[in-house]
Amino acid sequence: MSTRRDEDGSAAGSSSEARRVFRGAQLFDGESKARTGTTVVVRGDKIEAVTPDAAYGARPGDRVYDLAGKTLMPGMVQCHFHSHFGAFGDGVRAPALGLEAAPAYLSMLAAYNAELAVQCGFTGGIGSSNAHTIDVSLKEAIQAGFVKGPRYLAGSREIVTTGEYSDYPNNRTFFMNLGCTGLTYEADGVDGWRLAGRVESGRGCDVVKISASPGHGSMPVRDILCPTRDELRALVEAVHKNGKRVRAHAPSKTSILECARAGVDIIDHADRIDDECIEALLDHNCTVVPSMLWSERFLGIAEPWDHDKTPLPISEGFPETPAEARAKIRAVREDYEYTCRAMPEAARAGVRMVVGDDYGTPIMPHGDYIPEFELYVKKLGIAPIEVLRWATKNGAEAMGLGDRTGTITVGKQADLIVVDGDPLVDVTCLANRDNLRVILLDGRVMKDTLGA
Ligand SMILES: [Zn+2]
Repeated sequence: MSTRRDEDGSAAGSSSEARRVFRGAQLFDGESKARTGTTVVVRGDKIEAVTPDAAYGARPGDRVYDLAGKTLMPGMVQCHFHSHFGAFGDGVRAPALGLEAAPAYLSMLAAYNAELAVQCGFTGGIGSSNAHTIDVSLKEAIQAGFVKGPRYLAGSREIVTTGEYSDYPNNRTFFMNLGCTGLTYEADGVDGWRLAGRVESGRGCDVVKISASPGHGSMPVRDILCPTRDELRALVEAVHKNGKRVRAHAPSKTSILECARAGVDIIDHADRIDDECIEALLDHNCTVVPSMLWSERFLGIAEPWDHDKTPLPISEGFPETPAEARAKIRAVREDYEYTCRAMPEAARAGVRMVVGDDYGTPIMPHGDYIPEFELYVKKLGIAPIEVLRWATKNGAEAMGLGDRTGTITVGKQADLIVVDGDPLVDVTCLANRDNLRVILLDGRVMKDTLGA
């Protein structure tokens, strides 16, 4: 697109464009230890130079940003993005699955959430389950330039087996019985799963989401694999043949193992990860999205709740007695504490971890992405620099774009952010959007409050 323009009106990508020169920053390049006194030069859509300040030679027309006291780092990647989830309410009573409104409304919500993610410093995103092919349209609208959003891999409907835990009756009858496609796609048998993989990848989805086992967040994990091994493998083969990826909601040990061995690219949640799983994940170069904030927030509300007085408004919608609710919550707590112990082991062993969670579901508003980072630092004991690697380099690799973005490297696309403060010491400085002073996506200015 040659018609794309920065907010300030300058054409992006033209060789005559002035260089943007970021001087005096602390640089976190997405990988190595931070370096101070570094200059990063952006020309058009590319990173042209990364050099010590002293080695930088000014040219007439350079736009120079003085970044003393600031951190320059790669744009981040949101790896579990439900584009049209979310409601503008009090959050707690928000409907759970983003199917409460007409497709047109949901599409606008998706566009809003996509721009919000960019304004939060996320220049990449990987879609999770969504309805009405909204993700494919969202990606196309972003590429066409009339919606602002991150580099994006479009998610699919969630492939489920008939009658399983997430095959809610209301998935089929939402929105006053209009015959729209919902959030899930029921498939059975090897042929059915192969067809599902072909249909969803053929509709333009870049990542086909499947439901591999129940649990996570507000539901206890059950150690099963929902599809048969053959169903799973038929889908993965069909999707890969179309050059697309597969992601699986896979909290149980059995499902993690089976998905990794079947070649699933992204494992969501992985609550019951263990040494055997770690080996399989490493062997098959899988990415894990721990997405633990939802569980933490759910337990924070559910445990002190007076279940005898009022049912929990954010339960999964199945009727349950107070005793059943309390038993379920105890089981969720046990799963969660297990994951808190096991996930750091997996990270240390070298499993590729990324950030992203079920934003847009109740108590998880879109845009509130940084408490997840804080959780990994404080509760899991992961170093801030490591969490930032998950959010940048690892995210780009999970998108299959590790050679083009994710690190501040000469020749890569200019996806970067300038942060007031030092997220390598305190990740929470990323939570205040006022601290994000510059956001470049593909060299285009998405935000600039430094005014160089
Ligand atoms: Zn999800």
